[in-house]
Amino acid sequence: MAYTFNPPKRYLMGPGPSDAHPRVLKAMASPLIGHLDPHFVTMMDQVKDMVQKTFLTQNNLTFVVSAPGSAGMETCLANLLEPGDECIICINGVFGGRMAEIAERCGATVHKVMTPWGKVTSEQQIKDALNDCPKPKLVALVHAETSTGALQPLEEISKLVHAADSLLVVDAVTSYCGVPLKVDEWGIDAIYTGSQKNLSAPPGLSPVSFSPRAVEVLENRKTKVQSWFLDLNLVKNYWAGAKRAYHHTAPVSAVFAMHEALNLVMEEGLENRWKRHYEVHDYLQKELEALGFSYLVDKAHRLPNLNSVYLPDTIKDEAALRTQLLNDFNIEVGGGLGDFAGKIWRIGIMGESCTYNHVNMLIGALKQIL
Ligand SMILES: *Cc1c(COP(=O)(O)O)cnc(C)c1O
Repeated sequence: MAYTFNPPKRYLMGPGPSDAHPRVLKAMASPLIGHLDPHFVTMMDQVKDMVQKTFLTQNNLTFVVSAPGSAGMETCLANLLEPGDECIICINGVFGGRMAEIAERCGATVHKVMTPWGKVTSEQQIKDALNDCPKPKLVALVHAETSTGALQPLEEISKLVHAADSLLVVDAVTSYCGVPLKVDEWGIDAIYTGSQKNLSAPPGLSPVSFSPRAVEVLENRKTKVQSWFLDLNLVKNYWAGAKRAYHHTAPVSAVFAMHEALNLVMEEGLENRWKRHYEVHDYLQKELEALGFSYLVDKAHRLPNLNSVYLPDTIKDEAALRTQLLNDFNIEVGGGLGDFAGKIWRIGIMGESCTYNHVNMLIGALKQIL
C-alpha cells in the first residue's frame, strides 16, 4: 500500500523554517546530477563565493556543512577545541546553552557567562570573564538568540576577545541575511549559520567560515578532531574546487536550492534585505502593540526578524490560539521556550516570510479570532 502525503500550504511565521521562494522550490526539483559532476563542482564554487559575499568575508575556508545549523555549531567548536582547553561561552537563551553543552563534550573546560533571557551580554561581563579566565582558546556568543529575540552587539566584545589573544566564535543562524553581519570587519574567527531562516532555503545546510587565525589554530591541533564527519582537515578538500575529492555525498538537491536562495539575496542586495527586515518589523510591531501584545526585549537590542511578544491579558490559552491560527488560517507562529513557554509568542518574519502581506494576514486573522 502506498501512502499519499500532501503537505498543506502554510505561511511560516515562526522561528524557522521560513517560506521558500518558488524559484528555490523549482531548483530543488531539478534532475539530480552526481556530486562530483563538473557542473556540480562549478555550482559549489558559486555557492562558496556567494556565502563569502553574504558573510562579508574574504576567508578562504568558507563552505557549507551538509547538515543543519546545529552541525555548523558543532563544526566550529569541535574543530577549535581540544580536551583540556578553556573557553568562555555566553548564555542568554537556548542556543548559548547548546554551545556550552557541545564544548563540554569536546572535553573543554567551559566558563559560562550567564545573562537573563531576553538580555544581551555586556562588555563588562566579558571583561570579568577574561579576568577569571585570562587565556581562553575561544569566546562564543549568539548574535541573534532565537529563543528570546535578542540581538547581541559584537564589535566591542570582539576587541576584548582579540586583546586576550582568543578566538571569537559566533552563532549567526538567525542574523545571517536578515540584519547587519560583517564577519571580517567585526573580527569574527569562526561563524556558522543555517539555510532555513532569513536565507529562506530548505533546512539541512549550514554555511560556515573560519578566519586565517582560526585556520592556524586548526592546523596546530595536537589531537585529531573527535568527529570524523565534521573534521575540517578532511571536509576542506571537498570544497577545494576542481581538486574536489570524495568525502561524503552532498545533499545535491538541497545545495541546488541554497544556490538559488543565495542568488535571490544577491539580486535583492544584502543591505536592501537588512532594510526590508527592519521596515516590515516596524509595521508588525505597531500592529501587534495596537492589539495589546508587548515586547520582551528592550528596543535597543530587539531582533527585527524574530519578534518575542507577551500576549494580551485577555488571551488565557496561547497554545489554543496558535492551533487555531494553524488550522483555520494556515499560519504558523512559534511558542515560547524554557521559562517563557506558555507566556510568549515568537513571530518570525524571515526572508520570504518578511512581507507586508504576511503581517497583514497574521494581524487580520488575529482580529477575526479575537
Ligand atoms: C535554529 C537555530 C540553531 C539551530 O539550527 P538547526 O538548523 O535547527 O540545527 C542554532 N542557533 C540559533 C540561534 C538558531 O536560531
